[in-house]
Amino acid sequence: MSKVPEMFGCNVFNDKKMQERLPKSTYKALKKTISDGEPLDISVANVVAAAMKDWAIEMGCTHYTHWFQPMTGVTAEKHDSFIAPNGDGQVIMEFSGKELIKGEPDASSFPSGGIRATFEARGYTTWDPTSPAFVKDGSLYIPTAFCSYTGEVLDKKTPLLRSMERLSSEAVKILHLLGKTDVTRVITTVGPEQEYFLIDKDLYEQREDLMLTGRTLFGAKAPKGQELDDHYFGSIKTRVAAYMKDLDEELWKLGVLAKTKHNEVAPSQHELAPIFTTSNIANDHNELTMEVMKKIAEKHGLVCLLHEKPFAGVNGSGKHNNWSLSTNTGENLLSPGKHPETNYQFQLFLAAVVKAVDEYQDLLRATVATAGNDHRLGAHEAPPAIISMYLGDDLGALVDSIINGEQYISHGKEKMETGVDVLADFKKDTSDRNRTSPFAFTGNKFEFRALGSALNIGCPNYMLNTMVAEQFSQFYVELKGADDIIAAVKSLVKNVLKEHQRIIFNGDNYTDEWVAEAKKRGLLNLKSMPEAFSHFMDRKNVELFVKNKIVTEAEYRARYEIELETYCKQINIEALTMIDMAKKKIAPAVSSYVRELTETALAKRALSETIPTGYEVNLLTSLSNKLECFAVTTDELEDAVLGAVEHKSDILDRAKYFRDEVFAKMQELRAIGDSMETETPADFWPYPSYSELLFSV
Ligand code: ADP
Ligand code: MG
Repeated sequence: MSKVPEMFGCNVFNDKKMQERLPKSTYKALKKTISDGEPLDISVANVVAAAMKDWAIEMGCTHYTHWFQPMTGVTAEKHDSFIAPNGDGQVIMEFSGKELIKGEPDASSFPSGGIRATFEARGYTTWDPTSPAFVKDGSLYIPTAFCSYTGEVLDKKTPLLRSMERLSSEAVKILHLLGKTDVTRVITTVGPEQEYFLIDKDLYEQREDLMLTGRTLFGAKAPKGQELDDHYFGSIKTRVAAYMKDLDEELWKLGVLAKTKHNEVAPSQHELAPIFTTSNIANDHNELTMEVMKKIAEKHGLVCLLHEKPFAGVNGSGKHNNWSLSTNTGENLLSPGKHPETNYQFQLFLAAVVKAVDEYQDLLRATVATAGNDHRLGAHEAPPAIISMYLGDDLGALVDSIINGEQYISHGKEKMETGVDVLADFKKDTSDRNRTSPFAFTGNKFEFRALGSALNIGCPNYMLNTMVAEQFSQFYVELKGADDIIAAVKSLVKNVLKEHQRIIFNGDNYTDEWVAEAKKRGLLNLKSMPEAFSHFMDRKNVELFVKNKIVTEAEYRARYEIELETYCKQINIEALTMIDMAKKKIAPAVSSYVRELTETALAKRALSETIPTGYEVNLLTSLSNKLECFAVTTDELEDAVLGAVEHKSDILDRAKYFRDEVFAKMQELRAIGDSMETETPADFWPYPSYSELLFSV
């Protein structure tokens, strides 16, 4: 193995390679585009393209692809080779600036939420020079943004890039008011912690539900789950360790800053966290990470499950979105410093986030709402569906003191005495962790914890950036004419915190008391995906994005349609898969076992009336009753699926139908199926059990 520093980024056309391979003037022009967002000249693009191509060919590439993130939530790619005929039956390898800048994939099969008719098939991808190109599987990958022929935004990346720009310009204006005139850019940073399950590939392939839907639709609980807490941070098994090592190396080669790995709470569950970077690159890298996780797993005879809830009864997987703001001068704007009580700049930025989260709690809830994540939120394993913020004791006390006009007494950093001479004493963190909060302040960043593991982080981040940018622009209007800027900031902060204090909650989010308390405070409790989307099209939300020029109203509505449509389709696929499993495998298996029990009982009786047959008779009676019920419920589920045709005109109504009728029926069917599984011998049951799935790796 080569040394890690040499390996890191070896598959990326990064700054170092650009510096080595580009003429000075080209390099400078490109850097200016990357750091200041200036448009790129085609002559510069031509030189960059040629250098990229030469490097890619040296790396063994024959193709290039514009890599983009359509609204399906997964990445898309179409590969073109570099070959061009040279006129005498031979080919040369070519790649022009035009090809680098613009691609034209057919857009007609990507979801557009009805804003683009299928005959307007043309779509464009545009090079995003702020995220570096890389090579993978013999192709040069060029990160791009995706829009339609008529300019409608059709992807998850464009709004993110726009929101970063928007937040930067609004935050810079505020900082200039505060005298920080050297700041020219504010960058949003993200570090997404990624949870996943690893299971054996052979077992996976025996489960239609896992293959088609990513989660188990049937499955009785294993005798052992996560109750002993013996998996969390436990020592990593050899096979998993080998996988993780391979994964780290592959990610490092791609320039992904993979940093932390450990076992998670549920059996077979693990986590990978990278070092944070700009939102845009973090988004691309998270997409890459998820893809590489799956690919490497196959090499090890494993399957990586990214679904939010692959197994009932043990924790599902999430993705913590650590988010902060920093200036081009290297200052973290969410760092309270030693004296937050006199750090008015910090207070102002904190107030902006508090106001944003309170005013747009419905949007934050919607942005993490998916069919898969519905299994987690509020299920005492992930934050509740109620959005609130955790600030911790210190900042909580600071907010109280500001609102009440009292003096702030800092808890300070206490020294932690280990009481063992060889162990160094260290300073305690000022705030403990609160794992139950959906939006927690963690030292110098906020951790948005409600994301599901499979989610593309583009959407939560562009929404978060935009709602915070909106507050900055409102604050700017309020502060710009002030004679005494500090006095004005103090008064603004006090008013804002007072008005939005209800969103701050430092207690245990898993309790029933909190649900009641949140209701009293007027906070929303949007329990399922369709409920979460019921406020999506509220005027204030539409206006937020239109006013800040992130997406148009039509594009925004398209997103609404696509998310709800996806939800309906996913439940529909799950229901059909269940019906298939029930009819073709589970019911016949139980029926054969009942026949065997019946034959045994009859044979015993034929032999002698005195041999007891209670065991067989009781079991076959129990299973026969359940089987009847199972068959009836399967039919009812089929009817429920068919009934969806009546709910075509309004997408929200349709999603609610899928939730209340189809999904509810699936739960019923599962309960009967799982109960039959506990009474059926393993060699009759057609699917690998939870014990095998969760404990065999
Ligand atoms: P925990 O599991 O306790 O939340 P981790 O170390 O697993 O902690 O994850 C913390 C994440 O937060 C890492 O991805 C880290 O890079 C990220 N992070 C740290 N500082 C910032 C910041 N300023 N902006 C964004 N993310 C950050
Ligand atoms: Mg975390």
